[in-house]
Amino acid sequence: MTHDYTQIREEVAKLCQQFPGDYWRAKDKLRAYPTEFVDALGNAGYLAALIPEDYGGAGLPISAAAAILEEVQKQGCNGGACHAQMYIMGTLLRHGSEAQKASYLPRIASGELRLQAFGVTEPTSGTDTLSLKTTAKRDGDHYIVNGQKIWTSRAEHSDLMLLLARTTPREHVSKRTDGLSVFLVDMKAAVGNGLTIRPIETMMNHSTTEVFFDQLAVPAANLIGEEGQGFKYILSGMNAERLLIAAECIGDAKWFIEKASAYAKERVLFNRPIGQNQGVQFPIARAYAQMRAAELMVSEGLRKYEAGEPVGEEANMAKMLAAEASWAAGEACIQTHGGFGFAAEYDIERKFRETRLYQVAPISTNMILSFIAEHVLGLPRSY
Ligand SMILES: Cc1cc2nc3c(=O)[nH]c(=O)nc-3n(C[C@H](O)[C@H](O)[C@H](O)COP(=O)(O)OP(=O)(O)OC[C@H]3O[C@@H](n4cnc5c(N)ncnc54)[C@H](O)[C@@H]3O)c2cc1C
Repeated sequence: MTHDYTQIREEVAKLCQQFPGDYWRAKDKLRAYPTEFVDALGNAGYLAALIPEDYGGAGLPISAAAAILEEVQKQGCNGGACHAQMYIMGTLLRHGSEAQKASYLPRIASGELRLQAFGVTEPTSGTDTLSLKTTAKRDGDHYIVNGQKIWTSRAEHSDLMLLLARTTPREHVSKRTDGLSVFLVDMKAAVGNGLTIRPIETMMNHSTTEVFFDQLAVPAANLIGEEGQGFKYILSGMNAERLLIAAECIGDAKWFIEKASAYAKERVLFNRPIGQNQGVQFPIARAYAQMRAAELMVSEGLRKYEAGEPVGEEANMAKMLAAEASWAAGEACIQTHGGFGFAAEYDIERKFRETRLYQVAPISTNMILSFIAEHVLGLPRSY
């Protein structure tokens, strides 16, 4: 196997070919969860790529996970249905107790349990995570959770949720990042017993929801790491999340560029292929250049992550550049296809809607620019 994970990419591509455009179009139309695709990826072991071998996973580095997710998108599929497991797990892996890891990781690795839901964003606090209002109060050997999360994707299709909640009121902590804690919530047990899930209809098929907590009892044994330190744990997983989402955007960009180039060669108007016109070539060529530049940033981020070096700068820039590159490629692809770019059967409009998300979630472009301005360039704090 080469460092490019050629073999893994080929295997993933083969698996994805069992799920062609009409599979995704049907799911998109019904806003249905791609259960068969997620099961196939899980059964082949790809969703357990990052779980250490001792716990039943493949024990691969993050660059392998990036290769898997990039290939999924490049084949026209959508990893949004299951990508969270790859990066959520890091919190459990790095900060969970031995007992928690022994209890959950083998079952996640085997596919018996899905850890797909990540409860951070709230309707009133949004990007300002430290202002979140969901509380978890200790009561004997349980925590009682009250509050609401929004955009909790895949909640209806997950057995476990990684939840960030406030355990100490903000005014009682000295450091603003203290007082938040992370819990593993058993969702199947919680639904109907203090947890309500309400789907949100969105412009693409993303199975996202809002969730309500009303006196939900979560065993204290499900607290991850130390009480009050949860924000740090979540932050430590965010670089991985950004790099993996960036890899997905690179895959999307490659899919769009491939489609646009093929169509530009075959569509003949005025007695020549439309791709002979520089007005058609240039947006595709520009998108390709943007994608390659972003791809280099993704691989530099992955390299630093695996070397254990600080990677906040590269992870953020990779995510921003890759999301912009996939959008530029989508734009070029639609324009190249003219009216057919809008026809569902070409899959372009679907991918266009899907890839747009990544300029907003899991973090929007402004917040990345703000990170670069303040933490890399030393400009004054704006918020
Ligand atoms: C389909 C979808 C799936 C998602 N899945 C999940 C999930 O599984 N789990 C989860 O926890 N969250 C999830 N999210 C939430 C996502 O991470 C947030 O939407 C995103 O972080 C932006 O937060 P917000 O929507 O509250 O926007 P807001 O925080 O309200 O921001 C609105 C706009 O204002 C800008 N802005 C805000 N403050 C500043 C500032 N100081 N300077 C400059 N610009 C600023 C933002 O950049 C943004 O453009 C999902 C969102 C979507 C749409």
